[in-house]
Amino acid sequence: TTQVRLASRPVAEPLDSDFEIVTEELPEPAEDQVVLRTLYLSLDPYMRGRMSDAESYADPVPLGGVMVGQTVSEVIASRSDRRAVGDVVLAYTGWQSHAVVDARMTKKLDPDAAPVTTALGVLGMPGFTAYGGLLAIGQPKPGETVVVAAATGPVGSAVGQIAKAKGARAVGIAGGPEKCRLLLEEFGFDAAVDHRSPTLRDDLAAATPDGIDVYFENVGGHVATEVTRRLNRFARVPVCGLVAGYNGTEPVGDHDRLPAFMRRVLTKSLTVRGFIQDEFLPTHGAEFQRDMTGWIADGTVRYLEDVVDGLENTPEAFRGLPAGRNVGKLLVKVAD
Ligand code: NDP
Repeated sequence: TTQVRLASRPVAEPLDSDFEIVTEELPEPAEDQVVLRTLYLSLDPYMRGRMSDAESYADPVPLGGVMVGQTVSEVIASRSDRRAVGDVVLAYTGWQSHAVVDARMTKKLDPDAAPVTTALGVLGMPGFTAYGGLLAIGQPKPGETVVVAAATGPVGSAVGQIAKAKGARAVGIAGGPEKCRLLLEEFGFDAAVDHRSPTLRDDLAAATPDGIDVYFENVGGHVATEVTRRLNRFARVPVCGLVAGYNGTEPVGDHDRLPAFMRRVLTKSLTVRGFIQDEFLPTHGAEFQRDMTGWIADGTVRYLEDVVDGLENTPEAFRGLPAGRNVGKLLVKVAD
């Protein structure tokens, strides 16, 4: 197997030298195990957190360890009656070409039901993040205004389209005119705002004439500063991610904004609630599978994928996430 291992903890943007690519012999599978060949590797912003040893909700990848990540893989040998050779499965085998895992740690996919890559995106963890966070915390009502940034990404694009399906007005924020065009033409947002625009504050005001009832927080940074100024009374803020700060390169600013924000929480009766998607699996997991499968089938929800070829290109592809180089769900195609 060829593996991308974490060689050192990145300081800001991860460098090639923070990783080492190593090829070694696979162990023999034990009873109830399968040998997997990675077809697609999912790249997600949370992986930046795993490269760091700062305290978080999950343990860091140890130095010398294989970088973690969800994969779509093919079973190439099996010592389990649960999985047969040729099955395509969802697994969590990380940045590597092959792996030996317990069969019960894999989920069999049906390639006829949906393209298998959707298990890493719209029908998988990112889609569920949007569904759980928006419906459980955001609770958009018909006619309300929902705002989300990183809006062409797998989480943001699903947030906007689910908000529309619930009768709300969806406003997407993205970097650059081409992504803003996609928001309107591909994903059906009601308005699109470019966060790189020098007139961001005015653009946002024009796009949200009735204020903002739900801000699905994906990015933090200067976008959050501007959006929170427009939150309505009783607005809800599901805090999903703060990708603007993941490389630790976002300027801190010359003063502490927390007191002003807390004053807004008080005077506007805001609900601000962080979440990690899997907390909603027991309450929303089954409904998500049913609703999202239906929405994809009837065209209510569309998705975009950005596929990079070759495991060796994974570090470079990953650097593109906070930079916004990806358009849609970022995947690495590891094998055919
Ligand atoms: P995306 O594929 O959307 O990638 C990140 C995007 O963030 C970039 O493409 C870029 O888009 C945007 N971005 C980066 N820096 C900034 C910035 N400074 N200001 C504004 N936008 C920025 O990622 P996902 O859809 O996979 O994830 C979206 C968010 O959801 C992330 O914060 C992630 O950590 C979080 N998340 C949280 C989960 C949870 O359980 N809480 C689970 C899954 C994801 P653009 O070019 O438009 O700027």
